[in-house]
Amino acid sequence: MSNNISMEEEDGFGAKKLFNQGFSYTYDDVIFLPHYIDFPTDAVSLSTKLSRNIPLSIPCVSSPMDTVTESHMAAAMAALGGIGIVHYNTTPSAQAAFIRSVKSRRVPLQSSPIIFSPDSRIVNEFDDPAVPCVLVTQSGKPNSKLLGYVARSDWSGEKQGAKLSDYMRPADESLVVPSNYDLYKLDSHLKQQERERDFAVLAEEGGVVDVVTKEDVEKVKGYPKLGKGTLSSDGSWMVGAAIGTRDSDKERLELLVKAGVDVVVLDSSQGNSIYQIEMIKYVKRTYPQLDVIGGNVVTMSQAQNLIAAGVDGLRVGMGSGSICTTQEVCAVGRGQATAVYKVASVASQSGVPVIADGGIQYSGQIVKALVLGASTVMMGGFLAGSTEAPGQYVNKDGTRVKKYRGMGSLEAMSKGSDQRYLGDKSKLKIAQGVVGAMPDKGSVLEFVPYTMQAVKQGFQDLGASSLHSAHELLRSQTLRLEVRTGAAISEGGVHSLHSFVKKSF
Ligand code: 5GP
Repeated sequence: MSNNISMEEEDGFGAKKLFNQGFSYTYDDVIFLPHYIDFPTDAVSLSTKLSRNIPLSIPCVSSPMDTVTESHMAAAMAALGGIGIVHYNTTPSAQAAFIRSVKSRRVPLQSSPIIFSPDSRIVNEFDDPAVPCVLVTQSGKPNSKLLGYVARSDWSGEKQGAKLSDYMRPADESLVVPSNYDLYKLDSHLKQQERERDFAVLAEEGGVVDVVTKEDVEKVKGYPKLGKGTLSSDGSWMVGAAIGTRDSDKERLELLVKAGVDVVVLDSSQGNSIYQIEMIKYVKRTYPQLDVIGGNVVTMSQAQNLIAAGVDGLRVGMGSGSICTTQEVCAVGRGQATAVYKVASVASQSGVPVIADGGIQYSGQIVKALVLGASTVMMGGFLAGSTEAPGQYVNKDGTRVKKYRGMGSLEAMSKGSDQRYLGDKSKLKIAQGVVGAMPDKGSVLEFVPYTMQAVKQGFQDLGASSLHSAHELLRSQTLRLEVRTGAAISEGGVHSLHSFVKKSF
């Protein structure tokens, strides 16, 4: 549509004018003016790139945080067409095991199977209604040969204390399926199982990997249909891992590469440092096929330094995370809308994709991040509290919650994550994050597809049928924006009601 309005009045500002006034804007400060629609919502494509060589079909990345991304979350994000970045607040071998676990399966499901050795005795495992069976392996651990099982339906209380080898049923061929079976193969296998056996064991050469129940598979089938997953060339799910910039991280990286990691994120709250620049060069020199993402940055000159060092992607955000206290503690950072716009404006000139990291609470903020130049959004709090997030649910004041904590909280740093925040080996730990809890949000396999549909509607209102076209509208100054006053922000939310229920899908 032509846009030849010849009036003295200006309808909003182009991004260049809006973001060059010396204010630090966050997503909620700005609003886009609608443009012209000439396509349906479903014509909007959100396909994008995480980094130079990692294509995604949805622009979603899960944060490398120990209450957000381990193997279950990473598998689910890849199944959705996004990607998960596994945290490194654990030993290198445990982090590599998470990567191998994502790589070895093709269902976005994960349980914690109960596994014993033949000499063990069952006590009260079946008190938990979620436990379909107890597995018996040679070593009594996963990744060991399956010998037999006791199903919930076989268990009778009076056998309490019985030795498993006397009581188990031997494992038969139809119980076990290859761990790389996808949902559809697994579903048809489970349908052919004996009537009383409502689970299958996933196994690979090394032995048992997991147990999947009919109920789990039915649940996933009931969620919005999954699109194209994010796959490596060998057909396994793509997965990323975070590492630090110390010498010991080079050994960690070697293990991760052996485990099959597809992309590595150098994790620092202030990424423009000699440590990171040297690490970027080391990674590119040692593993030229591996994409390396640098950050975090919020300014154009920080970004330029990391681009010159050879990064394949940039992570943007300082102080915008929901659990973060960096701006209060250190007086450094930037409003996330300004940071994303500024960094993307230089990164786009070198073809380096930008990840808008932190500060996402709802779909409109994802639209803002993407339209302001990001190629993906990285989310911690938005995905925390989900079925796929690590940790157990607990009851807090009548609400089912899971822990969500900043990696710069004292609690997380005491487990080792201090190097993200104390890049120079300081001995005195100062927290830059808090420990909290998130309510049970259900499965990301359910709420992320609805969120993506909402994002598509936002793109349609702007007349952008893809991220590329949104970025063109932004850079040609065709896209118009305004800053919202406090009153405009409250008018833009629900107001004046006595009470209401907010249900988005
Ligand atoms: P959220 O999505 O919850 O708003 O923010 C998640 C992001 O916050 C992470 O991806 C990471 O960049 C950042 N982050 C995680 N933990 C901390 C912390 O303890 N302090 C700070 N400053 N940032 C954190």
